[in-house]
Amino acid sequence: PVAVASSLETVELTKSFGGVTAVDHASVRFVDGKVNGLIGPNGSGKTTFFNCVTGMIKPDAGSVAYRGNDITRHASDRVARAGIGRSFQLCRVFPRMTVMENLLVAVRHPSLRTLLRSADDEHERERARHWLRRVGIDHLEQAEARNLSYGQQKLLELAGVLMGDPDTIMLDEPAGGVNPALIGRIATLVRELNDEGKTFIIVEHNMEMVMSLCDHVVVFDRGRPIAEGAPSDIQKDPRVLEAYLGV
Ligand code: ADP
Repeated sequence: PVAVASSLETVELTKSFGGVTAVDHASVRFVDGKVNGLIGPNGSGKTTFFNCVTGMIKPDAGSVAYRGNDITRHASDRVARAGIGRSFQLCRVFPRMTVMENLLVAVRHPSLRTLLRSADDEHERERARHWLRRVGIDHLEQAEARNLSYGQQKLLELAGVLMGDPDTIMLDEPAGGVNPALIGRIATLVRELNDEGKTFIIVEHNMEMVMSLCDHVVVFDRGRPIAEGAPSDIQKDPRVLEAYLGV
């Protein structure tokens, strides 16, 4: 029989900082083609989990596989080439570059030399314009990133992720610090991109967003999954209430 590859899967993934085990033998499987949510109380290890998966930090133990291929401890550029893009909790853009320049470096190593080379690349500019239109900030193409609102910078970061043409997009708190109108736009974009075939894995504190947007939710507590399922089931799960309320 042909095994069906899951999207992203970890087995017993573990990462400690000194005496703190941030991710504790976490075995998680996200569903390919779906909008997956990853929720849990503050300090439950969600960001560390993202960082271990995307090569920002090296896990101490355990494994990570993407669509059946082992990517454990692969460097972040290799993880990106495998098809996984990500955004950061505290949005990462180059403040003194223009919006367009940010997108031209997003797909390459961010050095001036590659920036100058890509500046000649009209094809890349067209792709950048396409994603700027999609996220709704094409009118800001020549603005310096530092002059954008925080929500607009998040949209720019998302456009940068999309420039890498990922199959799976990991978002760390896309709604954090963003006004309600922009949250709505980000949610709509996620739905559209999911309809176009992109898988999402989203860490988010905004429960309304998680419950309305996600098809499948994994709940972390103390560095490991304690529950998973459809949003409606998760909301009723006593283990989840206990993790959040400490009852
Ligand atoms: P979450 O994203 O769910 O809020 P984190 O992954 O940020 O959780 O943190 C999990 C635990 O690991 C917390 O106790 C946090 O203080 C600790 N931690 C995270 N990163 C570091 C670090 N670089 N050094 C030391 N401790 C860390």
